[in-house]
Amino acid sequence: MSRIITLAPDMTNERIAEMIRKARWGKNLERLECPRCHSRDVIKYGRHKGKPYIQLYRCKSCGYKFNELTGTPLSGIHISLRDAMLITYLYLKLGLSGLAISRELGINKNTVQKFIRKLREWAKFFPEHAEA
Ligand SMILES: [Zn+2]
Repeated sequence: MSRIITLAPDMTNERIAEMIRKARWGKNLERLECPRCHSRDVIKYGRHKGKPYIQLYRCKSCGYKFNELTGTPLSGIHISLRDAMLITYLYLKLGLSGLAISRELGINKNTVQKFIRKLREWAKFFPEHAEA
């Protein structure tokens, strides 16, 4: 299905994942630490099975496994990062409803609603992003 609204073609899932990684942990992963125990003793631990553009990590101190999305609204979603960015834009910036977004993008409406609920939970912590 072709969409009228889409992200720029160079905004690949890999690129978005990289942007998140750098924003969170620094250009050379200098701020990389375990989200659970804050240890810096962290190793790369392969790639996400369904989404190979997501890097997995393992904490050598407490054994916790995590990735660059852990603890963000993008964690555990069943849509690509590209679709997540698009939904975020349409919802927060353009103020479209979940149903309108679902129709526009051809993504199941429950999937869209579930992601929007996560976005809204997060908006409470970042009020400056909550205004559409
Ligand atoms: Zn840890």
